[in-house]
Amino acid sequence: MPSYNPPLRDMQFVMHEVLNVTEQLKQIPRHADTDADTINAVLEEGGKFAANVIFPLNISGDTEGCKLDKTTHEVTAPKGFKEAYAQYVEGGWAALSCDPDYGGQGLPFVLNQCIYEMMNSANQAWTMYPGLSHGAYEALHAHGTDEQKKLYLPKLVSGEWTGTMCLTEPHCGTDLGMLRSKAEPQADGTYKLNGAKIFISAGEHDLAENIVHLVLARLPDAPKGSKGISLFAVPKYNVKADGSLGTRNGIYCGGLEHKMGIHANSTCQMILENAVGTLVGQPNKGLQAMFVMMNAARLGVGNQSLGLTEVAYQNALIYAKDRIQMRSLSGVKAKDKDADPIIVHPDVRKMLLTAKAYAEGGRALACYCAMLLDQHLYHPDEKVRKESDEMLALLTPIIKAFLTDNGFEATVMCQQVFGGHGYIKEWGMEQFVRDARINMIYEGTNTVQSLDLLGRKILGNNGATLKKFGKLVGKLVEEEGVNEKMAEFINPLAYLGDQMTKFTTEVGFKGFQNPDEVGAAAVDYLRVAGHLVFGYFFARMASVALKEIAAGNTDPFYQAKLQTARFYFAKLFPETASLMRTARAGSKVLMDTDLALA
Ligand SMILES: Cc1cc2nc3c(=O)[nH]c(=O)nc-3n(C[C@H](O)[C@H](O)[C@H](O)COP(=O)(O)OP(=O)(O)OC[C@H]3O[C@@H](n4cnc5c(N)ncnc54)[C@H](O)[C@@H]3O)c2cc1C
Repeated sequence: MPSYNPPLRDMQFVMHEVLNVTEQLKQIPRHADTDADTINAVLEEGGKFAANVIFPLNISGDTEGCKLDKTTHEVTAPKGFKEAYAQYVEGGWAALSCDPDYGGQGLPFVLNQCIYEMMNSANQAWTMYPGLSHGAYEALHAHGTDEQKKLYLPKLVSGEWTGTMCLTEPHCGTDLGMLRSKAEPQADGTYKLNGAKIFISAGEHDLAENIVHLVLARLPDAPKGSKGISLFAVPKYNVKADGSLGTRNGIYCGGLEHKMGIHANSTCQMILENAVGTLVGQPNKGLQAMFVMMNAARLGVGNQSLGLTEVAYQNALIYAKDRIQMRSLSGVKAKDKDADPIIVHPDVRKMLLTAKAYAEGGRALACYCAMLLDQHLYHPDEKVRKESDEMLALLTPIIKAFLTDNGFEATVMCQQVFGGHGYIKEWGMEQFVRDARINMIYEGTNTVQSLDLLGRKILGNNGATLKKFGKLVGKLVEEEGVNEKMAEFINPLAYLGDQMTKFTTEVGFKGFQNPDEVGAAAVDYLRVAGHLVFGYFFARMASVALKEIAAGNTDPFYQAKLQTARFYFAKLFPETASLMRTARAGSKVLMDTDLALA
């Protein structure tokens, strides 16, 4: 059986020592009183909920899966899920970072980020039920009418109701411009929706008394393509003006998908038959409104893989210290045993350190982004709000794709540490791999993320936001470049920073002549950008550790941080050279291959 120990010390290190979040929160009036003690106390309680309440349901939920009653169209989540959700609502966790105007606790997103990381480690499938609600809350908060906010937000904030995002249809996932679901205006100002959606996470379940579906559909005479899509709020039960539940609405689950992982989360085929909905945002501008939810979900999906990376690492580490097999190449280490623990073998250490580095780099980046979100939403200075938003937009596809690609690699490596025992169910490692796989696919595949990063976020604004990130790197290089002990971290980072400018210009120039060049380079490009960002945070983490050690702090925690940073720069970061090389190989070797692919 796997175990999970919330990494509170690592979270506190990132928040308090690397990012100094409390100093930054002081600049935001609504968060000015959120001090380190509050953060640590909430983290500790969140860790208990994750480890004690939902982690024990992870394997049983995976084995049992969800059940659909085909006559009532009701879905039952695995045993214990409903009770755990009741505890989540009772504990006020749903409301943590929501607006106090709607019953929220108004705590910063950066704190919510860490709570979600722990819940994802403990049970990704369970965490998706409240996770999607949070995205629906954000979309309605940003684009809902006063009436919609009054009816839906307090219940989404408290967690009494959950939310979904209904985009995908059988013939369109990436290309939402082709979607066919229809919405017809009614005399009373509502809309009647008809159509079919597939793959809707948490589309139907028994955890909450109502579900607020955010549905993309077309109005009559809407322009073709993505400019003719509108967004609607469609509750499972119609809601009366006083907020109480009315009749059952015409949106129901027609089938459950049988899938590779996240068995305990209901992935539903949803049928809309004259379902009553109300318009969210402007007609034909549904994608813009939905983007609030999609961006929240992209950060959330990156966080899912961060959680899985951490829990897989923890279990592989315990196993590697316990499992004895063969002797160390450099001489016997455990003389009292018949063989040495496998952690003595260099490649086992490499697999463990890869997962550890991906977790630590991912956590620093995810917390940094959550802090940007707090600044974007509530910082008093408009310039800071705007710049935070731009930086977050740049980093969102990196979080989504880099963290989920890394998460899959890390869970596979941690499974590998178990040898054959990782492949059988008993140790729980194969579940982490299966669960991690979806994170690279949904919420826009990782290829689509790379096109968003390179095509839209970088070349689309002539690299302006990337240059701003480059400035952060440049500042760190300038500050730390004089410190000899930092050279092993700063030199490769500075080198990649320089290379990145050239590399981007080159890809942009080739893409200008032939757009397939962008498509051919994008996935490699995103990984290089991911390493630039990770390299920046690893250098910052190393700098904090070195300062503590220089000041006489003997806590091995700081030496461990240095060792991980060293490993990262020596063994993972150099991947950037081969990635730039393969990106430069261009599109011809892909596109002039009709015979090979005949
Ligand atoms: C378990 C699960 C849960 C999900 N939850 C939800 C949910 O809650 N709500 C929801 O609306 N949807 C959900 N989805 C749908 C998910 O977001 C889509 O599956 C995903 O966006 C990809 O769409 P698709 O499956 O239609 O693949 P396609 O769009 O058909 O893509 C197939 C392949 O082509 C590639 N491709 C497509 N276009 C391009 C391009 N321009 N350039 C390069 N490559 C391209 C893709 O990267 C992919 O590799 C879920 C899916 C699953 C499996």
